[in-house]
Amino acid sequence: MNVYDSQRIANILETLGYQETSSQTAADIIIFNTCHIREKAAEKVFSDLGRALLIKNERLAQGKETIIGVCGCVVQAEDEQIAKRAPFVDFATGPLTYHRLPEILEKVARKKHISVIDTEFPGESKFDYLPENHAQGGCSYLAIQEGCNNFCTYCVVPYTRGVEYSRPINEVLSEAKRLISTGSLELNLLGQNVNSYHGEDENGKERNLAYLLNKLAEIDGLKRLRYTTSYPADMNDDLIACHKNLPQLMPYLHLPIQSGSNSILKAMNRRHTKEDYLRVIEKLYKANPKIGMSSDFIVGFPGETDADFQETLNVVNQVKYIQAFSFKYSKRPGTPAALMSNQIEEKVKKERLDILQTLLFEYQDKFNQSCLGKTMPVLFENKGRHAGQLIGRTPYMQNVHALLDKKYLNQIINVKITEATTNSLSGEKI
Ligand code: SAH
Ligand code: SF4
Repeated sequence: MNVYDSQRIANILETLGYQETSSQTAADIIIFNTCHIREKAAEKVFSDLGRALLIKNERLAQGKETIIGVCGCVVQAEDEQIAKRAPFVDFATGPLTYHRLPEILEKVARKKHISVIDTEFPGESKFDYLPENHAQGGCSYLAIQEGCNNFCTYCVVPYTRGVEYSRPINEVLSEAKRLISTGSLELNLLGQNVNSYHGEDENGKERNLAYLLNKLAEIDGLKRLRYTTSYPADMNDDLIACHKNLPQLMPYLHLPIQSGSNSILKAMNRRHTKEDYLRVIEKLYKANPKIGMSSDFIVGFPGETDADFQETLNVVNQVKYIQAFSFKYSKRPGTPAALMSNQIEEKVKKERLDILQTLLFEYQDKFNQSCLGKTMPVLFENKGRHAGQLIGRTPYMQNVHALLDKKYLNQIINVKITEATTNSLSGEKI
């Protein structure tokens, strides 16, 4: 979501005459788009800001002004700390208000040295005010839903991204058509809780994600569709049927369980049990036996016992994820879990994370090895580190390296897989 937001922020700045540069010292404006989900990400902002101040001062010595701005969820949650710890920041705006950047920058220009902070939950939708975006490559992100009403006890999202909001069907379809007509073959629909999507159609009727996926699949030129991130309790039968009926929908689903223990899931305020989750996966496999699953896990949630943790390992052994993301529980200010008295020691969290990741990597490696010798369609999105190399993704989101002419960038090419490691594949065009 932050990558998508950053692209939209760049769109706004382009309309104001700015151009992107890869060099911070050449930049007239430096913006940090921040994440507040875990403490480590949030803290990194302050060290990055310290480095930006050095650049600002160096440039000032050469007679050049530099505007420093902060966007994203850290602003929403820690605006006062930003003002206190980094008073040189010229503006700070939350994830729902960055469409106001033109006004904000005007204020910055008028009132030099007085920070502009905008953390309102606005009445308007930012999407109505953003300039048109275009494809930046073969694969585009498209935000369709934002915010969350679930209030998992560990999570800051409902407080930083606000209540759930779904963009209307027509607005999503026109953005999708624009991205496809300007070169994208793949769309990845985004939302903090994307499968609870309930956008209005042109008659004001609420439509679900399955309806939207079917509409998108009718667009000529769209070859691949994905949606991220889904909440297990919102995986309804309509949506599961899309995995059978829509050939464009990739056979890969990121469906976070967080923990395999029902008592921890309850303490997390998740609206699903381990059994509910496994039932959804069974239905998905029935709809499409080739589907590969991915998940997020949190280890060391307050009160997690060895037996609870073992339940998480059991789920991994049952589902055999082809990819996964796992984190140590991180105490977030303002969330109920941060106040729980039964916090887990850092050492135990680390041990559990190591055990879990070792197991997850085993399954990921096994899946990657099973691809050896197979031919897979790969959408090449980037140039590789080595000359003549391109990097792309399989339907299962695996990275594939291949020696290929750059004319194949942003195209889907059949590749025979010749090498497999835990993290990536290599292959040759056939
Ligand atoms: N809506 C999605 C998750 C979005 S947040 C869902 O419900 O599954 C992305 C991931 O960050 C979560 O899946 C979770 O694994 C992780 N995360 C969120 N808060 C966290 C915290 N306080 N500590 C550690 N990981 C956290
Ligand atoms: Fe956070 Fe996801 Fe829970 Fe919403 S459903 S509160 S985004 S973890």
